[in-house]
Amino acid sequence: LANRMFHPEDTIVNVNGIEIGGKKIVMIAGPCSVEGQDQISRIAKEVKEAGADMLRGGAYKPRTSPYAFQGMGTAGILAMVNARHETGLPIVSELMAIEHLEEFVENVDIIQIGARNMQNFDLLKAVGKTKKPVLLKRGLANTIEEWIMAAEYIMSEGNPNVIFCERGIRTFEKYTRNTLDLAVIPIIKERTHLPIIIDPSHAAGDYKLIEALSLASIAAGADGLIIEVHDDPCNAWSDGSQSLKPKRYAQLVEKGKQIAKVI
Ligand code: PEP
Ligand code: MN
Repeated sequence: LANRMFHPEDTIVNVNGIEIGGKKIVMIAGPCSVEGQDQISRIAKEVKEAGADMLRGGAYKPRTSPYAFQGMGTAGILAMVNARHETGLPIVSELMAIEHLEEFVENVDIIQIGARNMQNFDLLKAVGKTKKPVLLKRGLANTIEEWIMAAEYIMSEGNPNVIFCERGIRTFEKYTRNTLDLAVIPIIKERTHLPIIIDPSHAAGDYKLIEALSLASIAAGADGLIIEVHDDPCNAWSDGSQSLKPKRYAQLVEKGKQIAKVI
């Protein structure tokens, strides 16, 4: 179903009027985790001013350590909903368990399937039974073929609204958290008709690398970028070291527009 051979034209996923996979590069930004109403409302306003089209924020967090902050849960989702009311930005959040599916269908605009759940086939089938746009992250150590098959799991249940998201894969390299595989952009575009966006934050693990990877992604044909932005990265409850401050994010958006003009 994802194969371009049987569906030559590009699929555009419409999210509350914002087109992913169309002409404009879609900019999604926000903190790794929702930390409270004030925090998410403040950052939502800042990223909107900087030029973001949508807001990200995790409420259920897949943390490596069970002792690390696990997310605010339902309170986090409700804080995101309030931030959408305040700014008009559609919201993206990660779903980890089928038991929360209804909450996500009711409240979020894009359901994120995280890297660690890319082959959670029951979860993929469950989101496939809805019509919600799904942001399908590539697994930490998954091939492109496996990733496309994960999209098929969603589509074969009746949901055509799949957006691929490359977030870096695990390699021997230690200077970066993961290795960003930019070759997937032309490969996914050749093999499938679905949009692909890039998450340079989880690929790099370091805020200083985000701009270069973002601009390269746009040049390579990405349909959008999802970037972690925090107004106090040093005190962020998760992923502060890879989070941009709003001002720096605004500069990136401006440079991105320049690259988009010439490709
Ligand atoms: C995230 O978006 O905060 C996240 C946990 O991403 P990934 O699943 O790509 O690690
Ligand atoms: Mn994160």
